Amino acid sequence: MRAAIWYGARDMQMADAPVPEPAADEVLLKVDAVGICGSELSGYLGQNSLRKPPLIMGHEFSATITGLGAGVSGWTEGDRVTVNPMIPCNACVMCRRGYENLCLNRVLIGAHRPGSFAEYVAVPTKTLYRLPDSVDAIDGTLIEPFACALRAIELSQITPGGSFLIQGAGPIGLLVLLAAKRAGASVIAITDLVESRLEVARAWGATHAVNPAETDIVQLGKDLTEGLGFDAVVDAVGLQATRLSGVLAARPGGHVVFTGLHVDDTTLPGNTIVRSETNIHGAFCYTQQNFAAAVKLIAGGIVPESADWLSIRPLAEADASFAQLIDRPSEVTKVILQP
Ligand SMILES: [Zn+2]
Ligand SMILES: [Zn+2]
Repeated sequence: MRAAIWYGARDMQMADAPVPEPAADEVLLKVDAVGICGSELSGYLGQNSLRKPPLIMGHEFSATITGLGAGVSGWTEGDRVTVNPMIPCNACVMCRRGYENLCLNRVLIGAHRPGSFAEYVAVPTKTLYRLPDSVDAIDGTLIEPFACALRAIELSQITPGGSFLIQGAGPIGLLVLLAAKRAGASVIAITDLVESRLEVARAWGATHAVNPAETDIVQLGKDLTEGLGFDAVVDAVGLQATRLSGVLAARPGGHVVFTGLHVDDTTLPGNTIVRSETNIHGAFCYTQQNFAAAVKLIAGGIVPESADWLSIRPLAEADASFAQLIDRPSEVTKVILQP
């Protein structure tokens, strides 16, 4: 089969690879479409300790079952599916406490085992989610990132009528915006340095979409909330500047959710956090409930049909697409590849 194999920093090439053999309780999938995740950009640059070359990345995908391993029941060839790529062990203490996303032995498809930047991928049946007929191959790739957005929304504890700030209008920030709107936030502010992404955010219902280099977001929050600050903030960037402004823009007792991964060490104002009783949460991946909810919400059409934020390309353009997302992010927001 043809696959986009990552060989090292800024080096991904199309090559031949053996079609994977599905093990017991696994299925063989023919990949229909696969998104490039922000977390894979640092992997492509060789800055992510999880990902070691040579590797087939890819974990946001839709596919069709074409082969069954031993002992598989309940699935047949031709079934259209998406995959929860975070495979828990279901045995460790965190899994037993119900925190599968924090499994101590978790295995990520596309990092610890081969992923879906390829014609075929083998996955355990416990990762499969059936795609409803209303979800096409492209929308199917959005379920995994939308599940991430739902986890952030859940931890933000946003309620109807609340005020909400999202930092970063990349794919996750934009999907958080759609989920915040559905959750009933009345003020939804979003920031980004890229004007074309802010335009998508406005079209999708952001009440305020601003460039943080031009607008003081902490002041804007006060202006919009009678001096209080935002009820909830999601940082979908992960830089020192955005994490700090996120904490400062939240109201006393408000919730700040960090979901973007960028710099490791961040300095935060501890005394302010104490005096304001700011609730700070990390949000990592999603629970099975978030994933199941993402399937339903995508099937219900929560993502507007305007395709101007998606760029759909052949898998052979993987390397060029990674380079473009890193070097020229103003040109493209989300890339979906088709083998
Ligand atoms: Zn992802
Ligand atoms: Zn576990």
